[in-house]
Amino acid sequence: MRPIRPGDRGPAVAEIRTVLAGLELLAADGRADDYDAQTERAVRAFQQSRGLSVDGRVGAETWRALDAARWRFGARALYHAIGEPLTGEDVRALQERLLEMGYDVGRADAVYGIRTSRAVAQFQREMGLKPDGSCGPHTVNALRRLGRKVVGGRPQWLRESDAIRQAGPALVGRTVVIDPGHGGTDPGVVVPDGALRWSEADLVHDLASRLEGRLAAAGVRVQLTRGPAPLTCLPDADRAQLANSLGADVFISLHTDGYANPEADGVATYHYGTDNGVTSATGERLAGLVQREIVARTGLRDCRTHAKAWDLLRLTRMPAVRVELGYLTSPRDRSRLVDPRFRDRVVEAIVAGVQRMYLPIERDVPTGSIDVRELRAIVAAGTVVD
Ligand SMILES: [Zn+2]
Repeated sequence: MRPIRPGDRGPAVAEIRTVLAGLELLAADGRADDYDAQTERAVRAFQQSRGLSVDGRVGAETWRALDAARWRFGARALYHAIGEPLTGEDVRALQERLLEMGYDVGRADAVYGIRTSRAVAQFQREMGLKPDGSCGPHTVNALRRLGRKVVGGRPQWLRESDAIRQAGPALVGRTVVIDPGHGGTDPGVVVPDGALRWSEADLVHDLASRLEGRLAAAGVRVQLTRGPAPLTCLPDADRAQLANSLGADVFISLHTDGYANPEADGVATYHYGTDNGVTSATGERLAGLVQREIVARTGLRDCRTHAKAWDLLRLTRMPAVRVELGYLTSPRDRSRLVDPRFRDRVVEAIVAGVQRMYLPIERDVPTGSIDVRELRAIVAAGTVVD
């Protein structure tokens, strides 16, 4: 779908404005179906608050988020619908409430799936309600009556890291899904360079294959989300779904950045999180480790880690990161990225970051110190020396 953008008019704009007004981001004056400057500001504010890319236009992802945002908790009955699950801010509010009380809903992803339904049923049983797993008026009232009295920390953070601790430090037998961004009809960032033409899609696929080789050598089961030249570009939600269906332990999406100003350069890593402070603790830790290893081993400028609620990070059920490995539009970064030896160093840094995520904190090692060619030997020896 073509994004709805400033200057547009019509019923879709009117609908967008109604949702934004309901969220108190937009005063209800002005032409009701006119995508004016005020609407653009409100869309940007909304995108920022939801951790979406802030471009002031309503593309598919922003549209879904706006559609989900119209639902206030308690305004409709919630239940687990097979096929097309209910999604919305009201579902997220319910999930965050249940998580605070210690119920296992997985991640607060705003999707009313089977896990949310089971958590609701458990809550209902404990409250003496009919445990049907649906959230109707009685359940809403029970949740409201409890108010904010019952708070049990952030179980989803604890659970993710528990699962990792119990699994031990070895990478052998784990499943890592590597996602080379773009592909098919979407080449990503493209930069002409004399007679050559560098494209993000090609470079990240090369990086993904190198990473696949390194991880496979460490005994990891690796799956790529696409081949070198797919016919179409897989949407991010489908890539997340693929990782979920493979039962991946870790999800790593590889991109390079681009910007109009060639001075912009550096590496940044993204993990799941929203402005409300909801985050994936292990995703955040993995992002920090990968980012630090890359900066230490490659010298790319440190553009830090950031929380985002992109489909790719929100819908994946395992620690997931998206790495923007330098700017193709920066002559400095580009000259490094086109060098295969440099790409090997990037890949070693990512492997070191993944390995460190599986080391207990007390056995973690200094950044830049893991020799990834020795991973199996190191882990088999039971000690990691720095
Ligand atoms: Zn990209």
